[in-house]
Amino acid sequence: MTLPAPPACLNRPYCARPNQTGGTLIAEDVREPNEHRRRLLDPDDYRPCSCLNCRGSRLHAHSYRERRIKIGGGISTEEQVRRYRCVACRAIWLVLPGFLARHLHRSWSSVQTALRGQGLAPVGRAADRETVPATTLRRWVGRLASSAQALLPPLACVCPELGCATEPLPADCSRGALVQALLRQGLLVGASALSQITGWIHRAMPGLRLL
Ligand SMILES: [Zn+2]
Repeated sequence: MTLPAPPACLNRPYCARPNQTGGTLIAEDVREPNEHRRRLLDPDDYRPCSCLNCRGSRLHAHSYRERRIKIGGGISTEEQVRRYRCVACRAIWLVLPGFLARHLHRSWSSVQTALRGQGLAPVGRAADRETVPATTLRRWVGRLASSAQALLPPLACVCPELGCATEPLPADCSRGALVQALLRQGLLVGASALSQITGWIHRAMPGLRLL
């Protein structure tokens, strides 16, 4: 059986976009808002080592952006995020803390709580599922059911354990099955499974998305 392909926006890395220079970098080790706010205080704490576009090593703190985060019931909150500009090529890089879901305007913990019926490790309260509209939840579930084929080669680069796993992944599996398999093998930590795997994917091939 051939799995459905995911929406094109999930499988379009920066390298496939001719006009892409800067973009988003994910600070995978920042797992909660207090740590993020602490790191915002010092421009060096989020400063990238080098520019992904030209490999230049001088990046200046450029500006802040407000990131809207939906918390349910039509209510949103905001977190500031830092942007840096490469001195050599002028590419702008936004550094997103690992606990925020790129493009979904939510925290990964709230996304994972909403999806807890999909075989993902439970996190948060069941009542939190109600904070995600049914149409949004259906879209995420559909994306988890689509093919993970494009994610496997980049994931293998950052997670060599995948290659020698006791439970080899099939050539084509769904995105949800991929997360579940990595959870069973202990390669992902339950409560932060989605933020962890999306950080790996983005690090290996910036722009590629799980959801
Ligand atoms: Zn650059």
